[in-house]
Amino acid sequence: QAEEYRRDADKPAITTDGVQIEIAANIGNLEDAQKAVELGAEAVGLLRSEFLYLERLNEPSEEEQAEKVGSILEVMGKDRPVIIRTLDVGGDKPLPYLPMPTEENPFLGVRGIRIGIERPSILRRQVRAILSQADKGHARIMYPMISALDELRAVNALVREEQANLGVDNVEVGIMIEVPSAALMADKLAEEVDFFSIGTNDLTQYVLAIDRGHPGLASRADALHPAVLRMIDMTVKAADKAGKWVGVCGGLASQTEAVPVLIGLGVKELSVSVPSLPEVKHKVRSVSMEESKKIAQAALDCADTSDVKALLKSYQ
Ligand code: PEP
Ligand code: MG
Repeated sequence: QAEEYRRDADKPAITTDGVQIEIAANIGNLEDAQKAVELGAEAVGLLRSEFLYLERLNEPSEEEQAEKVGSILEVMGKDRPVIIRTLDVGGDKPLPYLPMPTEENPFLGVRGIRIGIERPSILRRQVRAILSQADKGHARIMYPMISALDELRAVNALVREEQANLGVDNVEVGIMIEVPSAALMADKLAEEVDFFSIGTNDLTQYVLAIDRGHPGLASRADALHPAVLRMIDMTVKAADKAGKWVGVCGGLASQTEAVPVLIGLGVKELSVSVPSLPEVKHKVRSVSMEESKKIAQAALDCADTSDVKALLKSYQ
């Protein structure tokens, strides 16, 4: 079976009733990018840029950062857009060269874009590095952990300044929707971005108030909880109204049983782990949009995670 999926990896993912879904990869380095192309990725929906630097003891220079981003853009080529997420450390992801003060609740502390806002020179160097390579491929920039409009505006202003400085225009910008306030305010945020990408890992953690790495509780942090699905629904509806598209780059996109729910809710791009690319494409080809919409509506109406799971099982 796996072999059959691999054989079709280069073909598009089109539902039985003719709706194409973009299948993208989550990557952390150049090797992942090469593998993603081999396995049929049509884009990179999430480059976790922090993965490029996790072992560094000091901040890579702008030139070094540019070199890494540039080589990934070249591998993906002009036809495969690459969403480069700005540094997303803090919480569960420490970065040796960026020591953070100890916090009682690091997941609720200075993490993701909050670091970039506190230390704008670091963010600025990264943004410049990305923009300087934009002509090597199709680069998009995404900010993690946006929780309020003022954060988005501050970072957008910084990016615009550097675009002007470098004479680069038309690099699309988007944000992760991974904090409940962002999902709830998606209509306002949508006005100031080109796209959203839903991070179901953090969104689930924050919606359900369950630490995503908690040894005893993490298994209950299930992205198929109807409360999470309702947040996704709300986000897509708000984006649709503003004419913006929504992807999902959290782990839920790689769970094939969730594919009908996500595309039925109107998600246009699934960004999945590299090994699951062929299987997710195959899953999209096996469902219809018409039925997916019905499944999605039924899932939104479920009372609990177990009901959603039972519903999905009945369709497998
Ligand atoms: C997420 O939170 O769902 C996500 C994709 O980002 P990360 O797992 O890197 O926090
Ligand atoms: Mg996240």
